[in-house]
This record gives sequence, structure tokens and C-alpha cells, in this order.
Amino acid sequence: PLVLGIESSCDETGVAITRGHELLVDAVASSVDEHARFGGIIPEIASRAHLEAMIPTLSRALETADVDLSALDAIAVTAGPGLVGPLTVGVSAAKALAIATGKPLYGVNHVIGHAAVDQLVHGDFPDRFLALVVSGGHSSMLLVDDIATGVHELGSTLDDAAGEAFDKVGRLLGLPYPGGPHIDRLARAGDPQAIRFPRGLTAAKDQDKHAYDFSFSGLKTAVARWVEACEAEGREVPVADVAASFAESVADVLTAKVIAAAHRNGVNTVVIGGGFSANSQLRDKAAQRCAEAGIELRIPPIRYCTDNGSMIAALGMSMVKAGVAPSTLDFGVDSSMPLEITHV
Ligand code: ATP
Ligand code: MG
Ligand code: FE
Repeated sequence: PLVLGIESSCDETGVAITRGHELLVDAVASSVDEHARFGGIIPEIASRAHLEAMIPTLSRALETADVDLSALDAIAVTAGPGLVGPLTVGVSAAKALAIATGKPLYGVNHVIGHAAVDQLVHGDFPDRFLALVVSGGHSSMLLVDDIATGVHELGSTLDDAAGEAFDKVGRLLGLPYPGGPHIDRLARAGDPQAIRFPRGLTAAKDQDKHAYDFSFSGLKTAVARWVEACEAEGREVPVADVAASFAESVADVLTAKVIAAAHRNGVNTVVIGGGFSANSQLRDKAAQRCAEAGIELRIPPIRYCTDNGSMIAALGMSMVKAGVAPSTLDFGVDSSMPLEITHV
């Protein structure tokens, strides 16, 4: 199927067109630079940026792919979770397109899109697999029977998401926003064994109730205390070692839990997606541990991991293939859309 995907849940305006597994175009406009000086996303600024970028990004995508709207089989748009204003811009644009063209419209789940996009790179999914979606707002473990209709949430973060923890530690180390990629870069020059930071929710007492959940805020506090102690003693903070040891803790917990979950649920494929799956410490450790465990690991290249239209088009394609009924045009955005809801 030929599917147009629209993404606007946060600060990226994304429009992509896919034909089956083939990505014809992936046009993205980002307002990240406008938020950098505030150290976080300002929803009103993001909404306005989406308004300004939506039509130009859409036109650019259609032109680049040389696709006529009449040729589309479906339109997919992020219905949630995300910021209400930004989501509303994308959903309004998608509804307008659907009404003007008469094409079926699917309002889909952004977080599930982060896993769905891997089909464009590594082909059809197996019958059952685990998806670890790690991003700025989510760290969730999903058991997937069908990406269009059968997603079960095994666990998620009880506090900060992995990317969020990186951004917060980045701030405390004085790095520019968003800190995630900066910590990644610094960590590559540091010693991951230099400091033993805590591994959240891995203690024996958490094995049952929180086997599939994550917690990164205690780790973030441990890093803050460690840095403060260093400064109080007048020692220079070994930034690379702190970054490497912090990143090691996050990667250790994420990969250990996902492999345990794969074993427990009898699946041998793990898909990792979301903006944080760009993280090289996570990629390296996941590759190493999955190889040891005989588990097939699928992580799309970095450009598919950050927010973009291709993840939404990919999930829309799965909806079409599964014969899911299109969304009725009266759906609204859902800022906290549950992960069990693949589409509205
Ligand atoms: P959600 O998908 O939950 O709505 P989001 O869309 O804000 O959240 P993404 O754009 O998917 O999140 O991911 C952005 C996050 O990934 C940021 O927290 C960013 O710091 C982090 N990130 C990106 N690249 C890296 C990296 N190489 N290492 C660590 N973190 C990274
Ligand atoms: Mg973003
Ligand atoms: Fe995202």
C-alpha cells in the first residue's frame, strides 16, 4: 500500500510516504533549536512551528516522492501520546487531507510507531516479538503479537524515561539541551566501570512486581550527589567517566530486563526503537547480550529512531495490511494515549 504518514507529537513536523516497505520520502522540519535556550520543549512555540511547517513539509514530501494525493491508499497521523497543541496541528492537517481526498485515515499511536518503523528496514515482523521503546518521554517494554492490533504493555518506567534521564544528567553536567547525544559522545571517551552507579529496579525484591518496569530517577540523583561531592572536595569532575558510568547503568538495566523478558515470554526477536535507541552504549550492549542469548536484535538506523513521518506511515501500512477499519473523522488527540491502544 501507498501510505502518507504525518507526525507532530513533539517538536518534529514529519511527513513521509511509504510504498510497502519502501520509504519514498521522509521530510522533517524541527523546532528543536527554538527550544534549546529554554532547556526543554515549550508547547506553544512547538505548536506554532508545526503550523508554519506543516503545509511546506507536506508539499515537499509529495513533490520529492512525485506522488499524487489521488494515488494514496491511506493517510496515517499521530493521534497521541504527545503535546496537545502539536498533535492537534497534525491531526487537523490529516483530517483536512482525508476529507479533501476521500482517503481512509488512521489515527495511530506514536510510541508504537517507534517500533513499527523497523519493518521498513528489516522487513516483516515475526509472529511474536518484544519491543523496547525508549525515547524522551517513554521507556516501555511491549509484547507484540500484531503491531496493528495486538500490543501488550509488560512494563514501563515508573519515573523518568531513559532519554529524559540523559537530558537531566546532561543539564547537571552543564551540557547543551538535549543532553542525550552529548552524553553519548562523552561516554565513548570515558571508563564505564569508573563509578558503580545504582541499577534501578533490579534488586531481588523488585523481581516479581517490577520485572519489566524501569526507574531512572534514583540513578539521576546518584549522579547528582556524586558530582556534588566531587565539587565539594574541590576535585575536577571527571565528566567522561561520569557520563560513561551513567550510560553503562542505563544500558545494563535496559538490556538485562529485555533479555529476561524475551526468555520468560519465549520470544527470540527483540526490536528496539525510539529516539533513545540512537544511544551507542545501548546499541553496543544490546548487540552483545542478544548475540550471547541467541536472540535476533532489530534496531533501525538512527535516522528512523528519532521522531519522523516514516514511523507513522509504517504503522499505517500495518493497519491497511491487517484490514483495520479506518478511524472515524471525529476522533480527537489523546496526549496520554495508552500503549495498548494502537489506533483510535
Ligand atoms: P516520545 O517518543 O516518548 O513522545 P520524544 O518524541 O520527545 O518522546 P524522541 O524524539 O523519540 O523522544 O527521542 C528524543 C530523546 O532521545 C531525547 O531525550 C534525546 O536526548 C535522546 N537521545 C537522542 N539521541 C541520543 C543518544 N545518542 N544518546 C542518548 N540519548 C539520545
Ligand atoms: Mg524531538
Ligand atoms: Fe518519539
